[in-house]
Amino acid sequence: MPLTIKNLSKSFRGFTALRNVDLEVGDGEFLALLGPSGSGKTTLLRIMAGLEQPEAGSVIFDGEDFLAQSPRERRVGLVFQHYALFRHMTVADNIAFGLNVRPGKDRPSKSAIRERVAELLRLVQLEDLGKRYPAQLSGGQRQRVALARALAIQPRLLLLDEPFGALDAKVRRELRRWLRHIHDETGVTTVFVTHDQEEALDLADRVAILKDGHIEQVDTPLDLYQHPSSAFVHDFLGGAVHLPAKVQDGVLTVDGWTTDAPKDAPAGEVILAVRGEDLILSDKGIAASIVTLSPRGPRTRIGIEIEGQALDLERPAHDPLSKLSVGQTVRVRPDLIHLFKS
Ligand code: ATP
Repeated sequence: MPLTIKNLSKSFRGFTALRNVDLEVGDGEFLALLGPSGSGKTTLLRIMAGLEQPEAGSVIFDGEDFLAQSPRERRVGLVFQHYALFRHMTVADNIAFGLNVRPGKDRPSKSAIRERVAELLRLVQLEDLGKRYPAQLSGGQRQRVALARALAIQPRLLLLDEPFGALDAKVRRELRRWLRHIHDETGVTTVFVTHDQEEALDLADRVAILKDGHIEQVDTPLDLYQHPSSAFVHDFLGGAVHLPAKVQDGVLTVDGWTTDAPKDAPAGEVILAVRGEDLILSDKGIAASIVTLSPRGPRTRIGIEIEGQALDLERPAHDPLSKLSVGQTVRVRPDLIHLFKS
């Protein structure tokens, strides 16, 4: 593994921001750090970058002790939410910055730098904008320049902290696709911080979910959906309700409805976690009321309420759930059951 983090802890004046974090990032992998505000994502990224030192633990990159190296020695590329571009420099000079400031013997020749900048401008699709200043660019274009600048030094590790956080939803989605494309072209090992689960699941090969300074689960997007290790992970991925339930003698009871409990179900009081997409209209099941119905051509958006919790689903127009009326109370059962100890 190029990046291996072990037993990392960090606190700020007695407040524990990270505790006993273990994480591995594979060669060329795109890993997202996902978690609510304050869960420690930025702190973990800053430790990888060398902008922060932990109290305990190790960060090994390709067999080297990263913690003993300066940020520059680590050769990491960094992109933040707020474009840290130099306002008085052109786009081309911004991109060339990391190469121009290298000490004499490591600095490429002027023509080599020019060539590299032209190559990067092509890569980030800004060929014609090299002579502009940051103020003459849109927010999305500035983030492209920031990425080109981070890539100029041929980083061993690319670290991005909410790089699209300040952009509107449409530009965000475009840049997301574009970033994944750039990653696949360059093959650079990438760690991406976000609190947006859709962004993480769309972009990353694997997602590490953080909560209160520790990692709850690291897995592929599909495995996180299918095998969430905790109620927190299930809930954080969104679109679910969590209901109190009971398992006894292999039988699951929730809201008066009983069914066979899954084989590996914990016994006693449990939490039944259900996603909207797994619900089926049924004679027997959990009571649900239809709150909104919005037909949108071939698909219908349905807002339902189960035990006071709101849930939005989307179904094809011909689905039985799409044919209900607002105010109706029906019964639904989950096709897929996730149970957690309560
Ligand atoms: P966000 O999504 O809001 O940026 P985050 O998951 O990136 O959150 P961090 O920025 O890593 O979280 O912060 C983790 C915790 O550590 C927070 O409670 C924060 O207040 C605290 N913290 C971070 N940096 C410092 C600092 N320099 N001094 C004191 N506390 C800090």
